[in-house]
Amino acid sequence: MSEIVTLIPGDGIGPAITEATVRVLDAAGAGLQWEECLAGVAAIDEYHSPLPDGTLASIRKNRVALKGPLTTPVGTGFRSINVALRKEFDLYANVRPARTLQHGARYDDIDLVLIRENTEGLYVGVEHYIGIGDDSKAAAESVMIVTRHGAERIVRYAFDYAVRNGRRKVTLVHKANILKFTQGLFLDIGRRIAEEYEGRIEFDDRIVDAAAMRLVLDPYQFDVLVMENMFGDILSDLMAGLVGGLGMAPGANIGHDAAIFEPVHGSAPDLAGTGVANPTAMILAGCMLLDHLGRQPVADRVRMAIEDAIRAGESLTPDLGGSHGTDAFAAAVIARLG
Ligand code: NAD
Repeated sequence: MSEIVTLIPGDGIGPAITEATVRVLDAAGAGLQWEECLAGVAAIDEYHSPLPDGTLASIRKNRVALKGPLTTPVGTGFRSINVALRKEFDLYANVRPARTLQHGARYDDIDLVLIRENTEGLYVGVEHYIGIGDDSKAAAESVMIVTRHGAERIVRYAFDYAVRNGRRKVTLVHKANILKFTQGLFLDIGRRIAEEYEGRIEFDDRIVDAAAMRLVLDPYQFDVLVMENMFGDILSDLMAGLVGGLGMAPGANIGHDAAIFEPVHGSAPDLAGTGVANPTAMILAGCMLLDHLGRQPVADRVRMAIEDAIRAGESLTPDLGGSHGTDAFAAAVIARLG
């Protein structure tokens, strides 16, 4: 049966890596029917809105979307559409695996999964300037929100993910030494939920700065990591660096009623139009979408073809040390689908 999936190509390198991804998934026989919609800068020209109603309606109807990166203006302009989508559909769990596909690099056999709380923390967007005297921007403050509900459901998601996927350990990453209320609550809740999984899944916790250092020195001591929103944003880029960079890191945004799959990276304005962006992260996001739809055998075939293409080494994009383009790499993956 063919499943309808909302497809948002996105901005910058988005359209090129999306086209490559669709070619690979179609060639693998994924059996997906794409409903293409606009969002981000690309939507403003046509709809005068970065998040048109039609795009929201399509995701609401299909309940699954594959999304390219969306540009967010820095400092001024509209707020992040990525954050808006996560809020709109309450996509509370951001799942970001980092797995070695290019062997013989700085680290080998990395297999980590970061679970990031996706709706709270500093991303609630409660921030404002504080005026003093003549200076209307004398100070600025942002509010970090951690709720019992939000912390419980993300930590529970991490443990259930670990059980479902045969993982051994969950590490809760926090900053409860300094942020004693917000991060203290997150840690307390984590410790309590960990007791429910005792004997099945190991548990430990790490302060975020020490976790960053340990991830670089010895990533193998970790397995599944769970944390609040901002720490997850930062450490997932670090983890992408352990497996070859942002071109290799996919992500899933999961809620009860919808799920949106995307690469971890952004629209890479420095690469837009060059034709050499690595489509791997986006193709792997497509594989996570297939897993979600219960089509894991197809997803595994695509993952294996990617690994083979990278191992063969002749069609690599510059970020992986090659000199080939997005389309050539996609063609190499398709040739290895078997
Ligand atoms: P970025 O992730 O776009 O790029 C960071 C670096 O990684 C750049 O050097 C880029 O060339 C490289 N890179 C990224 N993707 C790559 C790929 N597929 N192949 C090879 N190299 C790749 O981060 P940025 O430059 O800080 O952000 C650009 C825009 O993207 C901003 O507007 C930001 O808000 C947005 N953004 C969107 C998302 C999203 O849609 N989920 C995520 C992060 C950033």
